[in-house]
Amino acid sequence: MGWVLPPPPQPSAAVEGTADRFPVRRIFCVGRNYAEHAREFGNDPDRELPFFFLKPADALVDSGSTLPYPPATRDLHYEAELVVALKDGGANLSEQDAERLIFGHAAGNDLTRRDLQAEAKAARRPWDMAKGFDASAVMGPIRPGPLADGVIRCLVNGAVRQQAKLSDMIWPVPGILMHLSRLVTLAPGDLIFTGTPAGVGALSRGDTCTVEIDGLAPATVTLA
Ligand code: MN
Repeated sequence: MGWVLPPPPQPSAAVEGTADRFPVRRIFCVGRNYAEHAREFGNDPDRELPFFFLKPADALVDSGSTLPYPPATRDLHYEAELVVALKDGGANLSEQDAERLIFGHAAGNDLTRRDLQAEAKAARRPWDMAKGFDASAVMGPIRPGPLADGVIRCLVNGAVRQQAKLSDMIWPVPGILMHLSRLVTLAPGDLIFTGTPAGVGALSRGDTCTVEIDGLAPATVTLA
């Protein structure tokens, strides 16, 4: 058996301390996982189970990239997020399974066409074109192993725009994996962007945006 087209390249992420790459299967993202961020969009953080959306795996770009300002938007937003990389999978997992699943962690930026998202919300349409556009998932190198609680921060041209503790998450990572595994069978190579704290805002051409998380390498992107 052959292919009728050349197979597409395998999307991948950098891994700290090695030239080897982490093969990316899917990119899941959590919505509204910090109470203050839920409130800044007029939602009640106490009432909701975690909810999920996806980005295509080939939307991933390495930290240090310079990107063109994306098409079809006039309101591109940064969202600083902790990213979890899975080395194992399964369905209907418990919170206790989380440790076994996790390969490592990285700093990420869930770039969002906020104007398209607002239109989609108003029209009760899907978010895909607001969230899953080309080069919409910026990610630093994955650090293998567990991650202690720490600060997550987003800087635009050196000025702090978002700052929170990872422990401020409404649904910590084990709960996210438990709920997500009830909806899909998780697999090695899956990434989960775990939601952003309050303080999201717009990026302009020429801006450099850096996501910092204690213990991890930063995820930096510059808009051309
Ligand atoms: Mn997000």
